[in-house]
Amino acid sequence: MENFIDELNDAQKAPVLHKDGPLMVIAGAGSGKTRVLTYRIAHLMAQGVDSFNILALTFTNKAAREMKKRIADIVGNSEAKNLWMGTFHSVFAKLLRFDGDKLGYPSNFTIYDTQDSQRLIASIIKEMGLDKDIYKYKQIQNRISSYKNSLITVKAYHQNPELMEADAMAKRPRMGDIYQNYVDRCFKAGAMDFDDLLLRTNELLNRFPEVLAKYQHRFRYILVDEYQDTNHSQYLIVKALADRYQNICVVGDDAQSIYSFRGANISNILNFQRDYDNVGMYRLEQNYRSTKNIVNAANSIIAKNKNQLEKVVWTANDEGAAIKIHRSPTDAEEGRYVANSIWDNKMQHQLSNGEFAILYRTNSQSRAMEDALRKKDIPYRIYGGLSFYQRKEIKDVLSYLRLVINPKDEEALKRVINFPARGIGQTTVDKMVVAANHYGRSIFEIIENLDKIDLKINSGTKRKLQDFATMIKSFQIMSESTDAFTLAEHVAKKTGILLEFKKDGTPEGIGRMENIEELLNGIQDFVEGQKELADATGSISEFLEDVALATDLDKDTGDDDRVALMTIHLAKGLEFPYVYIVGMEEDLFPSAMSMNTRSELEEERRLFYVALTRAEKQAYLTYTQNRYRWGKLIDAEPSRFLEEIDEQYVENLTPVDGGYRYKPLMDTDIFGEVDKSTLRQNKPVSGTPPSVRKPNENQLKKLRKLKPELATPVGNTNTIDPNLAEGSLVNHTRFGRGKVLKIEGVGNDKKAEIQFEKGDVKKLLLRFAKLEVV
Ligand code: ATP
Ligand code: MG
Repeated sequence: MENFIDELNDAQKAPVLHKDGPLMVIAGAGSGKTRVLTYRIAHLMAQGVDSFNILALTFTNKAAREMKKRIADIVGNSEAKNLWMGTFHSVFAKLLRFDGDKLGYPSNFTIYDTQDSQRLIASIIKEMGLDKDIYKYKQIQNRISSYKNSLITVKAYHQNPELMEADAMAKRPRMGDIYQNYVDRCFKAGAMDFDDLLLRTNELLNRFPEVLAKYQHRFRYILVDEYQDTNHSQYLIVKALADRYQNICVVGDDAQSIYSFRGANISNILNFQRDYDNVGMYRLEQNYRSTKNIVNAANSIIAKNKNQLEKVVWTANDEGAAIKIHRSPTDAEEGRYVANSIWDNKMQHQLSNGEFAILYRTNSQSRAMEDALRKKDIPYRIYGGLSFYQRKEIKDVLSYLRLVINPKDEEALKRVINFPARGIGQTTVDKMVVAANHYGRSIFEIIENLDKIDLKINSGTKRKLQDFATMIKSFQIMSESTDAFTLAEHVAKKTGILLEFKKDGTPEGIGRMENIEELLNGIQDFVEGQKELADATGSISEFLEDVALATDLDKDTGDDDRVALMTIHLAKGLEFPYVYIVGMEEDLFPSAMSMNTRSELEEERRLFYVALTRAEKQAYLTYTQNRYRWGKLIDAEPSRFLEEIDEQYVENLTPVDGGYRYKPLMDTDIFGEVDKSTLRQNKPVSGTPPSVRKPNENQLKKLRKLKPELATPVGNTNTIDPNLAEGSLVNHTRFGRGKVLKIEGVGNDKKAEIQFEKGDVKKLLLRFAKLEVV
């Protein structure tokens, strides 16, 4: 069994074989940090450490499952099963189910997702009579989240003049009251939000020494992956738990710290040596993931950051192909390019879809990619964005199930008390919220006691409310003797949800019905899976916990073969043979929101480093000249990161010789008319053959630096530049007659704002506009 150690190089063996005590591995991407963690656990177990005494914290639950599987291969399945392994959130949710009662939480507490939190905050703002344009619920939710992650409780907030002043300056003097209300309401609903899972764990370990001692003994060995991205709250939990035995092993890479906006704190790495005595420090330098080109290119980028720990990353892998850079006229074309390129690569190298990933900075970029992949019949899966479990119909069914487990759950109740419609109006609900606040009870308890309190609700409505409560209670009784699937199916039917969507009859309604069926199938799968586990029963509460804490990657069962689409943040720790990083443009990547300070820009650069280092064999970087953003077609400028890569590792594929490698589906007319529908749906438009747009001066400058030989523009730029002035009357082939309101820009960027007789005002790029002066 011990020969598995030989699957490591010497530098990796050292931390794996390190005896007890604190140790830290800081190393670049792909050097085997996660592998070290996995093998260290296997080694500990092989040495006789009880698997019950090991706690491993990972970035996704999927990563935890894969690690467990690898460990099971080495030391055997039954032992591996006992490991506590998963994300911070899922591990500490489990701990709070055991001991949260000490803080006054029921063991069946609900986990509010971000949507639930936001809805609750929105209703609190409304109830308090505050201006929702100043008190924006999403912003407030964000602030509360960051308070919690910094362990700033309501009390701490009110004792902190600086914070209060900052909120007052931002015209939000009632911030503290909202915070207070929010915390009270969650507590009363028997609910924790994501941040509570960490905050309450900290509270529990701080306030109850016997609980702390219990878990310190239990988790004699603690291991943390992606340590650079732990936030303050997580850091403190780890520190508390490891305090007794100090058997703490963390691995990370400061160059991949990409969550500072969520409070992740790189100083955790820097402070590790201060926090513990006799820290074993290890470095890994050999990258096993990527080609020389990719490793070297990534090194050349990260070297631009001033704030970083000295590190060497090299690889013995092949040189590989150069990193390919490609420019497209629009985001729709970019999608087409990527889809075509994936197709070509698949054909040429006999690859499967699962070997490709498309990574982007923001979720909204996925749409153009999806359209193009669909057109080419390339199966794909999107991770992130609105997850399956957040769709309306799914949340409706889940809300009923949540009420079964915890009838105090206010957000679930408000969601379904009148869905499907049963004649309980908003006014009634509002009255009950007021009463619930007044009596310090949950809405469900108010319903149960309607006869004792006078809410001025008529008897008909009263009965409807009581019927609702009776129905939920009947589900509760049923849940005691059935598995999750049987109950969920019963609930979907009995509540009338399925019928509601069926009656609807629209394609959308049918789609929703199918989604509910998919949910039921998912529950059945889950039940089957759980029944195999010794300590699980397949109950509805197990299922809900699984859903609440599923990171998006967890749904990837790996059973079908699809191209992966996700944000770079989500891609951390993963690897794919072929990686397309799209939207390499200023203001998009680096993001316009993150260029104000050096440290923000450096974080964006680390993000780029993470993106590039996901690639094993080949990386593509694509950008566009024009992109729809916020509903407008805007000029895009190549990302500064493109210039930052040492040019010996890149190859520019962008055609500037008048020919497209792939023939665009669209007429160049799209530059003239801002016709979203055409661009969005990528509809073929007949018309003149494609021509190549001349890059503007700024783009040329960049291009010259990138690839001097390609920087001289040639080819048949479609320059139609009629002699227009403000006030000119014009005729457009499609929009008809109009009058020029304004001319802006020069040369190729010259645009005219035209009021057409049909009523529209459009901004047209003259170079492409089909206009004549009349
Ligand atoms: P990241 O920083 O991206 O999280 P990492 O440092 O955690 O990367 P791993 O994911 O552990 O790196 O390893 C990268 C790849 O190299 C994996 O496919 C892993 O199996 C492989 N690998 C690591 N070490 C070795 C080795 N000694 N022999 C063979 N393959 C290895
Ligand atoms: Mg890793």
